[in-house]
Amino acid sequence: MGTVSEVVVVGGGISGTAATYELARAGVSVTLVEKGELASMASGWTLAGVRQSGRHPSELPLAQAAVRRWKTLGEELGADIEYRQEGNLRLARTPEEVPIIARLVEEQQQLGLDLEFLPDPASVRAVAPALSDTVLAASHCPTDGHANPIVTVRAFAEAARRHGAAIRTGTEVTAIRVVGGRVTGVQTTDGPVGADVVVLAAGVYTDRLCQLAGLTLPLKVGHVAVVQTIPLPPLIRQVIGVANGDFAGRQEVGGRVRMTGDSFPWGWPDGPLGPEDVQPPAWAVRVALDRAVAVLPALADAKVARVWGGLIDVTPDELPVIERAAEVEGLVVAAGFSGHGFCLGPITGQLIRELITKGTPSLPLHAFRRARFAGSVGATQARLHG
Ligand SMILES: Cc1cc2nc3c(=O)[nH]c(=O)nc-3n(C[C@H](O)[C@H](O)[C@H](O)COP(=O)(O)OP(=O)(O)OC[C@H]3O[C@@H](n4cnc5c(N)ncnc54)[C@H](O)[C@@H]3O)c2cc1C
Repeated sequence: MGTVSEVVVVGGGISGTAATYELARAGVSVTLVEKGELASMASGWTLAGVRQSGRHPSELPLAQAAVRRWKTLGEELGADIEYRQEGNLRLARTPEEVPIIARLVEEQQQLGLDLEFLPDPASVRAVAPALSDTVLAASHCPTDGHANPIVTVRAFAEAARRHGAAIRTGTEVTAIRVVGGRVTGVQTTDGPVGADVVVLAAGVYTDRLCQLAGLTLPLKVGHVAVVQTIPLPPLIRQVIGVANGDFAGRQEVGGRVRMTGDSFPWGWPDGPLGPEDVQPPAWAVRVALDRAVAVLPALADAKVARVWGGLIDVTPDELPVIERAAEVEGLVVAAGFSGHGFCLGPITGQLIRELITKGTPSLPLHAFRRARFAGSVGATQARLHG
């Protein structure tokens, strides 16, 4: 990209704040523009599992690299981000799901991931005694984990600020300025900001922003119900997912259990998105709770503290886009994480910095180019696995 003097990052979730941090500490002048508060969308709604297991082969190297960063990330950012590397269990709840999990373990082992197959209820309960004996088998990846999402995003932004980045919240990007095929900056609700590179890390809004610059990004939006209990005594250390992705859960550091149901198609409301538009319907909350109690019976009497809904930016193949756009010089896109971009955050930020300052990323990004969607329209619904 040549010498970069000014970067604007659009989006104050984990992808945008991590990129801003990476750029600022590399000495690049960078401004992050966020229309709401930091972590006010997916990066705040998330379950926040930090998972390598069950990743698509092309995404696994990114997740593994991210986990290497997560281990020392709190220290690096100077904040307690509540990262715990206590494992991930993906459960088989029916006889049909047992061979699915066994195959997953075999495939992932062949890709070099250290995970084991727990073949019966006794071996599952030896690892996680609170699980129901109706859980028939599980995969167990001990190097997976979880973290506090809002604290992590704020820590990235704070560290970026210490390295000289400008963080502008409550400011919406309304246009991307392109002159002669090159980005020259953005228009915001608070005036223009000049830039020779613009990073679009705007989650479910990234397709609209792409459109403003004349690019196509096929995104659909999924909606997920999230339920959080009051603090409970220690119940389970691992993040849990299930073979068909219709439930995931984890116990937070403070004892609250956070759980999600499956993802359903979602339609944008007319006019601006209000907080109530994202709240989950009662049936989705009930379904998530039923599934939670089926695998963790102790939750039957747990007091619920909060429910909320989360929106997910889903691409047709459920893999993200991380690229320098070929059509517009200076435009970088990082979106479509399809329900698993929290774990990747630290490496997404690093890859964006590499794309901007070096041109060559340290990990292969071929699978994450937008060009793979040429002619594609339909997206599926994301499955959440923690
Ligand atoms: C319920 C749920 C459970 C999940 N569970 C997991 C999990 O266990 N593990 C995992 O790895 N991932 C999980 N995910 C996915 C993960 O949370 C997301 O992939 C990740 O947080 C995406 O981060 P982001 O920064 O790309 O996007 P976001 O966090 O959505 O950030 C985008 C930001 O851009 C801002 N923005 C948009 N348009 C504009 C504009 N025009 N101007 C300025 N700002 C703008 C938005 O306000 C928003 O803050 C889950 C997601 C949900 C919803």
